[in-house]
Amino acid sequence: MVLLGDMGTGKTSLVLRFVKGQFYDYQESTIGAAFFTEVLYLNEATVKLDIWDTAGQERYQSLAPMYYRGAAAAVVVYDITSTASFEKAKRWTQELQRQASPQIFTALIGNKADLDEKREVDHEVAEQYAEENGLHFFETSAKTAQNVNELFHEIAKTLARTC
Ligand code: GDP
Ligand code: MG
Repeated sequence: MVLLGDMGTGKTSLVLRFVKGQFYDYQESTIGAAFFTEVLYLNEATVKLDIWDTAGQERYQSLAPMYYRGAAAAVVVYDITSTASFEKAKRWTQELQRQASPQIFTALIGNKADLDEKREVDHEVAEQYAEENGLHFFETSAKTAQNVNELFHEIAKTLARTC
C-alpha cells in the first residue's frame, strides 16, 4: 500500500501510530519515501502490509507512480484544518483513477480530527466526495489514535478478500 497527500497532513504520523503506537509533535518530514512493514492477524487471514510512505513535496511528485503503480491499496491523506490539502487530495484520487490499477483499494483520509476547532473541511462534504468517487472514507487522528487501527484493518480485510 502507498500513502499519498500534501506534506504535513500526517502520513508518517499515521503509519508510526499504527506500527509503533507512538506520536511525535515534531515529526521530521519524510525525504523521498519511507518503507514500513506490519503483519496483521485477522480472523480470516494473516496479512503482511508493505507500506510506502511518500513525501508530499512537489519535487517528489513525479516519483509517486513508482509507488502506486504496483500497489493494492492507496491512502490519500488531507488535513481537516486545510482546504488546500483537501483540494490536493482530490487531485491525487483523480490521478489514481486515471493511472493506477482499476482494482486498487483507495481510501480518502481526513487526518487531524482532534483539531476540530480549526476545521476547514466539512465531514459531510468530504464524505460525499468519497461516496461519489467510490472511495472509502475515514476521519482519523494520529495524535489520539482515532480510527487509525480501523483504517489499516479495513485495508487488510479487503486485501485478504481480493488479493
Ligand atoms: P507528513 O508530511 O504527511 O508525513 O506529516 P507528518 O506525519 O510529518 O506530520 C506533520 C505534522 O503534523 C507533525 O508536526 C505532526 O506531529 C502533526 N500531526 C500529524 N498527525 C496529526 C494529528 O492527527 N493531529 C495533530 N494535532 N497533529 C498531527
Ligand atoms: Mg512524512
